[in-house]
Amino acid sequence: MLIFEKSRPGRGCSILPPCDVDVYTPSEKDQRTAPLHLPELAEVDIERHYTELAGKAHGVNDGFYPLGSCTMKYNPRVNEKTAAFSKFTHIHPLQPAHTVQGCLQVLKETEEALCAITGMSRFTFQPAAGAHGEFTGLLLIKAYHLANGDTQRTKIIVPDSAHGTNPASAVMAGMSVINTDSDENGCVDVEKLRQLCEGEEGKQIAGLMLTNPNTAGLFDPNILEITEIIHSCGGQVYYDGANLNAVMGVARPGDMGFDCVHLNLHKTFSTPHGGGGPGAGPVGCKEHLAQFMPGSCVMEKDGELVFEKAENSLGEMKNFYGNFLVVVKALTYIKMLGAEGIAEASANAVLNANYMMAKLRDIYDIAFGTKICMHEFVMDLQSLLKETGVSAMDIAKGLLDHGIHPPTMYFPLTVHEALMVEPTETESRETLDEAIEVLRGLYDLAHSDPEKLHASPLTTPVGRLDEVGAARHPVLKFDFEG
Ligand SMILES: *Cc1c(COP(=O)(O)O)cnc(C)c1O
Repeated sequence: MLIFEKSRPGRGCSILPPCDVDVYTPSEKDQRTAPLHLPELAEVDIERHYTELAGKAHGVNDGFYPLGSCTMKYNPRVNEKTAAFSKFTHIHPLQPAHTVQGCLQVLKETEEALCAITGMSRFTFQPAAGAHGEFTGLLLIKAYHLANGDTQRTKIIVPDSAHGTNPASAVMAGMSVINTDSDENGCVDVEKLRQLCEGEEGKQIAGLMLTNPNTAGLFDPNILEITEIIHSCGGQVYYDGANLNAVMGVARPGDMGFDCVHLNLHKTFSTPHGGGGPGAGPVGCKEHLAQFMPGSCVMEKDGELVFEKAENSLGEMKNFYGNFLVVVKALTYIKMLGAEGIAEASANAVLNANYMMAKLRDIYDIAFGTKICMHEFVMDLQSLLKETGVSAMDIAKGLLDHGIHPPTMYFPLTVHEALMVEPTETESRETLDEAIEVLRGLYDLAHSDPEKLHASPLTTPVGRLDEVGAARHPVLKFDFEG
């Protein structure tokens, strides 16, 4: 039942203090012509309404959530505690820097930590999400080429194993995308890349965007060769580090030759996301790109922290300093783990994914016959579909009946009938064993009673939804007349 349907005229729970300013009456033309429809409920009914709604959703706090590429790990409560500290929340972005030195210190220390983790020279916290970070990084690369008079460098190479946002960001940055196919191992085809960058065509290459680990959960073994090829034709190399929880504390994009990187603080550095709150996609770069950084960077001057614009700043990517409280959460997380813990978190993310993959591979095909994956792996259900008529969608819906959120479906595009599983580092062995048991059970059910899987989920508040209809014809408002 919608909150509007529970509404009763005259009921309510708002007790406002008396108005202590002059009442302002807008002119006739600015006044509403129809009453404002606000739900009128007692506090207890509002409380129950939202508690009931929360119970219908599935979050990390309800159960296993192995949504590939999204890193739905458990985010420690202490992050929320520090972010709620009034000295961080009761401030204004226009306050003079000398009155908010602690906040500048947070930005500075987080920047230093991320530089140490990635091997970059500077970071900006302006980008609000991963894709926004990609866009920012590409504008940095573009500014760099333009400053060098390289106006013809407008093409960006994006391997087909990249995250879907990569080519979209490139187009937004005004570049044209050259798609390269993967080799039979699911990684960049180095010979094809070499051909692309040779001769006259190489002079038009602005750079390459590499998602690593890529969308099949693989660490590209030829990464040094890839950055070398791009640099030798004059291009810049971008590292999509949204999923750095596979490598942080172990390997650094900067050491691999990358010029620029974005990280998803919501994912790797432990901020809730996917409806759970704002994110941050900070962008790091090497010294030669730092002069174009957007917004303001924190610098130390005469013993005081100040904001300073980069020399040839490309402008603003977002107002002020980005989602500051997300940075507070990330710094809390980094400080709680320490250098050792950061590496251990990655090791556990990789271990958990490999454990699940090893316990499933005798019945489910794994994309690219991977022996070792990074933080995630991709199941390929084409043969199951052929044998039983049960699709990746059916298995995903079947998981819902066992209280498990489905993995990412039908992605990456290089694998058909894909289920992309990312258990994350925060899950216990018992949780992984239970999920393995459930997935093995669904495989058997696909052979014994495929109809049941076609009909699932059967235990959730709603059954199988018309997903295309929901996307194409969403009903977003309540019809007061009807
Ligand atoms: C999630 C993700 C992105 C995009 O991040 P958003 O915050 O959703 O914009 C980009 N690349 C990779 C590899 C990702 O996993």
